[in-house]
Amino acid sequence: MMPEAAGREFDVVVIGAGAVGENVADRVVQGGLTAVLVEAELVGGECSYWACMPSKALLRPGTALHGAQTTPGAKEAVTRTLDAAAVLERRNYFTSNWQDDSQVSWVEDTGIALVRGHGWLTGPKTVEVAGLDGTQHLLRARHAVVLATGSTPTTPPIEGLEDVQVWGTREATSASEVPERLTVLGGGVAGAELAQAFARLGSSVTLVARSGLLGNFPEEASALVAAGLRADGVELRLHTATERISRNDDGTLTVSLGGGATVTSENVLVSTGRHPALEGLGLESVGIEPGESGHLTLSTDASGLVRETPGDEPWLYAVGDAAGKNLFTHQGKYEARATGDAIAARAKGDLKGSPSDWSRYAQTANQHAVPSVVFTDPELASVGRTLQAARKDGYNASSVELPIQVAGSSLHSENYEGWAQLVVDEDRKVLLGATFAGPDVAELLHAATIAVVGEVPMERLWHAVPSYPTISEVWLRLLEKYGL
Ligand SMILES: Cc1cc2nc3c(=O)[nH]c(=O)nc-3n(C[C@H](O)[C@H](O)[C@H](O)COP(=O)(O)OP(=O)(O)OC[C@H]3O[C@@H](n4cnc5c(N)ncnc54)[C@H](O)[C@@H]3O)c2cc1C
Repeated sequence: MMPEAAGREFDVVVIGAGAVGENVADRVVQGGLTAVLVEAELVGGECSYWACMPSKALLRPGTALHGAQTTPGAKEAVTRTLDAAAVLERRNYFTSNWQDDSQVSWVEDTGIALVRGHGWLTGPKTVEVAGLDGTQHLLRARHAVVLATGSTPTTPPIEGLEDVQVWGTREATSASEVPERLTVLGGGVAGAELAQAFARLGSSVTLVARSGLLGNFPEEASALVAAGLRADGVELRLHTATERISRNDDGTLTVSLGGGATVTSENVLVSTGRHPALEGLGLESVGIEPGESGHLTLSTDASGLVRETPGDEPWLYAVGDAAGKNLFTHQGKYEARATGDAIAARAKGDLKGSPSDWSRYAQTANQHAVPSVVFTDPELASVGRTLQAARKDGYNASSVELPIQVAGSSLHSENYEGWAQLVVDEDRKVLLGATFAGPDVAELLHAATIAVVGEVPMERLWHAVPSYPTISEVWLRLLEKYGL
């Protein structure tokens, strides 16, 4: 039931009830404050309905099937291909059929107020909401307004794109049918994952990327994912610009690439990045103007406080995709916990000024230990700095890398191929980062995250013995290669 919120005052007003907004509101309520969430679409946001959950639900059956197909003894029992209808049905289950009742119940049970509508700032600590039911609401914040509005797909400058109907990641993750042919524009995480998901569901997929595939990861790791996509029949057109897109008489779409090449398909998925969703939020009413070029971005401190906040009081915060630091649900929720706790502490006078590094009010891991997983098959899992990033940041960094060839990997599946890398700060002899690529490596990542966050000395890591025979034994091989 929607609470009556017109002209009401809350300690904290949170605009956006995605995973991140929900977590901020939860933390401030746990800290003894009142909070209201303003949501224009579904409570739970992008991750629950159009991003993490449906994309992983689409990928998992293909990974499970491939796992069986590459395990002698099991593979003989596998006689059929994926049941696309059953996969889509399972995906529907994981998105609760795009109904947010259970998330709304959680909000209510947690003691958070909810206003359904589009919200924007009209002045310091004041938010107006155009309710979805036509009502207007004025919300005043005693302590803080938090922007948790997520991100928006960035439209690439492709001639003809505005005149045709293409898929964004929303349409792809909520598709009710599998197209015969699909062209994916973009070689980032979402492009790679969805290309493989649809290839395994039966589409003939071409992925076009202006630069390489998964260019933010070490080349050896991205190459394994590229090989996995090619093995599934995905045609990779890398380092290739898309010049034009046009609709044919039969309804298909033709993408024109450089050099006269074309790709024709029933659907085109445009997945070429996202930017913080800050437009229409009334930021100009508090003196924050869009930058000269590109999209509006905000700079936030370690507690999520917007640096440009007008006045002497800390009251305007941005978290999650809206803050534009790390566009992951887990990292946004981490920011939310720190920010929610900082707001509650400041309200009680327990926190003055900026929080210290690694305190519960600071998002320190954002600088040192952001984990990310690409849920393709093989998977790619990475945390902290790559060697290149470490050196760019001024560290005296070295690295060790190895193919993953341990008893655990050979038992896992036939012809297991993987790659692992540790990046070490030679001055302090601690881990700065780690990358793993290979089937089912995602679960290896948290050990690395703990080692990076804990700044565990390499000599102490030597005593972290991996169980035999697990894929984690690659840690031992890497430490041996490092010289321990
Ligand atoms: C295809 C895809 C797959 C992904 N997979 C993963 C994954 O596996 N793991 C992972 O960690 N991350 C993944 N991500 C990223 C992840 O989805 C985002 O980082 C996460 O959703 C950000 O959460 P958020 O709460 O900041 O924003 P959102 O989830 O976008 O929530 C913002 C909410 O604010 C609302 N809103 C916006 N403006 C207003 C307004 N003015 N008034 C009221 N409401 C408003 C929106 O309706 C929305 O519900 C994926 C992204 C994509 C696109």
